[in-house]
Amino acid sequence: TFKAIRIDKAETGTTVALTQFDEAELMDGDVTVRVEWSTLNYKDGLAVTGKAPVVRRFPMIAGVDFAGTVEQSSHPSWKVGDKVICNGWGMGETHLGAYAEKARVKGDWLVALPAGLTARDAMAVGTAGYTAMLSVLALEKHGLTPKDGSVIVTGAAGGVGSVAIAVLSRLGYHVIASTGRMSEAGYLRDLGASEVIDRNELSGPAKPLAKERWAGGIDSVGSTTLANLLSMTKYRGAIGACGLAGGMDLPSSVAPFILRGVCLLGIDSVMCPIELRNTAWTRLATDLDRAKLSEITHEIGLDDVIEAGARILAGEVRGRIVVKIL
Ligand code: NAP
Repeated sequence: TFKAIRIDKAETGTTVALTQFDEAELMDGDVTVRVEWSTLNYKDGLAVTGKAPVVRRFPMIAGVDFAGTVEQSSHPSWKVGDKVICNGWGMGETHLGAYAEKARVKGDWLVALPAGLTARDAMAVGTAGYTAMLSVLALEKHGLTPKDGSVIVTGAAGGVGSVAIAVLSRLGYHVIASTGRMSEAGYLRDLGASEVIDRNELSGPAKPLAKERWAGGIDSVGSTTLANLLSMTKYRGAIGACGLAGGMDLPSSVAPFILRGVCLLGIDSVMCPIELRNTAWTRLATDLDRAKLSEITHEIGLDDVIEAGARILAGEVRGRIVVKIL
């Protein structure tokens, strides 16, 4: 057996506990990994608190991200001792997840730990940071460059937001950070934000079009915030939408699209193709300042995860949480 955070179905909702898990209960996969580090994302908070039906198989091991060392493999690309990263693909939702000393997954899901990143660094980045990078890549593919104008990052003090600010500023963008925690303005400026605005400015009902304020953006909030971002985006600009921390709805209009040629870029990390994952992780190894990464990272143990899960949903976690497994 090994230690794991296990979620079971109860009469109403789910139960969660740090407990022993039987290796024989691991699901099919051609690679078994000794998990060394994991992390806490917003989705992990939803899973461990049972606040949203993230888990679709029981029993489940929570956790959508891990970094560790290959212990067994019958996959041609991986051998014992390889350092690997895995995130998404339904881990913690339909496939047994990462908050455990062992994981068995498909070799096709794995990314080699990029040179220059430790397993701990990779999990300090985690799904949140890798999603921030997927958003940057989408803006670049759209053609956005720093000379086009400012970029806005919402949910700025959160995980996606913090990594997005650090990467965009390193790439030379003028970054506007939108936060509900103006007390974190100093933290956001240290990460590289040139301006910090109160998220209340963007949370009311959106006009079809408003004054053009930025050429691009990365939004982890959704709802009226995303609608306001769109109506304030410059001609032919683009916004990457990756989150719903403020709501799942999108009360917008077609005006930004048909009158300003604005593009809304959808960002999904879970089923993202492996080539794009490899690109994102390689770019994270080069375009994310390691000093800034440690600045945003806070370490906890496996026995702190359930409590921290409630805090991330309450919007009380700053930056990223890394979870030490072994
Ligand atoms: P996080 O660390 O909790 O960050 C979310 C941030 O959003 C908070 O720190 C807060 O920032 C802001 N926020 C929270 N509640 C809000 C509200 N009611 N209204 C407006 N802003 C609010 O979470 P995360 O791990 O970075 O994830 C961020 C979002 O991205 C989540 O919705 C998550 O599900 C999503 N996500 C999606 C993907 C994907 O594949 N598309 C991948 C990863 C994450 P301030 O305090 O600075 O305002």
